[in-house]
Amino acid sequence: MRYLSTRGGPDSPGLGFCDILLEGLAPDGGLFLPESYPRVDAQLLARWRNLLATEGYAALAHAVLSLYIDDIPDADLRGICERAYNDTVFSSPEIVGVTELDGGLWLAHLSGGPTAAFKDLAMQLLGQLFEYELGRRGAELNILGATSGDTGSAAEYAMRGRAGVRVFMLTPAGRMTPFQQAQMFSLDDPAIVNIAVEGVFDDCQDLVKAAAGDLEFKQRHSLGAVNSINWARLVAQVVYYVAAWLRVTTADDQRVSFCVPTGNFGNICAGHVARMMGVPIDSLVLATNENNVLDEFFRTGSYRVRSSAETHATSSPSMDISKASNFERFVFDLLGRDAARVRELFAVKLPQDGCFDLSGTPEFAGLRERFGFVSAASSHAERLATIRAVHAADGILVDPHTADGIRVARDFVRPGVPMIVTETALPVKFAATIVEAIGIEPDRPAAFVGLEDLPRHVVDLPNDVEALKSLIASVTGR
Ligand SMILES: *Cc1c(COP(=O)(O)O)cnc(C)c1O
Repeated sequence: MRYLSTRGGPDSPGLGFCDILLEGLAPDGGLFLPESYPRVDAQLLARWRNLLATEGYAALAHAVLSLYIDDIPDADLRGICERAYNDTVFSSPEIVGVTELDGGLWLAHLSGGPTAAFKDLAMQLLGQLFEYELGRRGAELNILGATSGDTGSAAEYAMRGRAGVRVFMLTPAGRMTPFQQAQMFSLDDPAIVNIAVEGVFDDCQDLVKAAAGDLEFKQRHSLGAVNSINWARLVAQVVYYVAAWLRVTTADDQRVSFCVPTGNFGNICAGHVARMMGVPIDSLVLATNENNVLDEFFRTGSYRVRSSAETHATSSPSMDISKASNFERFVFDLLGRDAARVRELFAVKLPQDGCFDLSGTPEFAGLRERFGFVSAASSHAERLATIRAVHAADGILVDPHTADGIRVARDFVRPGVPMIVTETALPVKFAATIVEAIGIEPDRPAAFVGLEDLPRHVVDLPNDVEALKSLIASVTGR
């Protein structure tokens, strides 16, 4: 399997999975995608059904990933999947289980990992892949990132203890929930460096860009990233779409729909890939909160990114995103993989005008039919009402992001087609909103009891790139 960029590069074909594993953006500024999607047929799906039932999630992951990775020996890839997906890492041996809700809905539980958010499913695989590939190359990697919540902790729990990997993670001082802060800052590991920046998330992001943009500095300290545009994260997520479909259906041609709460187009992009592969997916229902950039596009054809000032702080903060970094992958497929048009839209039009409009095009007119996408947004009041209603009807507590998905999913349920909502976090991460909805604190899984009382390991830093650089240099010693 070879990989190419959504903007047309590289000129010479020949990038394999391990070539792009440690990269973020393609050199031309685009995003990597496989040159074509492997197609699955009913026979292969039947084999996967049997595999999941007899050998479990890691074996299914190995089978799906093998279609995309041909530069890691088979037995090694199997080992990587088994180390990433087992019940010492995830809370259940199923890794991703499903629960039926009232009214034709299902929940796919993606939050059983160490940080109780779906990002663990991709990040745990990434940690194993990084360790493996760095070991083969005899190389080291210093991951530099910024987080406003779930990404940073998922990265740290996946990368700690991995040989050759260090993490520098910037957070806006005092702006994450106490639980999210405790998750990260309680890690006591010299290879994990938590940094609290005097500023907001955008300041952290700018510092990362400034430090990594200094190419001499970047090379000297082997800086890398784990952001959501990384292809390995995306393909890891394809596995749980297959697993959830298998767990909800009994026949190999039975269709389901998925509803996915999103901001960055990361999770649902993997659903799009699964559908392109031929997994029997009917609709892909995209759910946003009040930050409705993507909902607006799928309803109107107009894509307009927002400024930080226009981005609302909501009760589903992990979706408070003004610009959907994975969206370019979908637009590439929508436009028939016309890289010149994608380049024009994302490298010229968007930076110039902050928007583009596909409303008059035949591609947009055929979008719903060809790609299955529909969308809607939820409000804070609707999420609270959904948390209350699901708790009352099903005895299940969902977090505000999952509640967004459930609320929107109800608009698109069709008789005979199960609608699977991806549960993206456990309610314990967003306790204040749960209390607002039902007046009681969510249950705390045993792994998280007393988390806020542990000693904190975090370095305070002014909003200054030179201060960040000297901190990194003092840790790497280079
Ligand atoms: C990251 C995150 C999301 C949004 O993920 P996308 O990449 O935008 O699809 C939703 N819910 C939770 C809990 C998250 O952590």
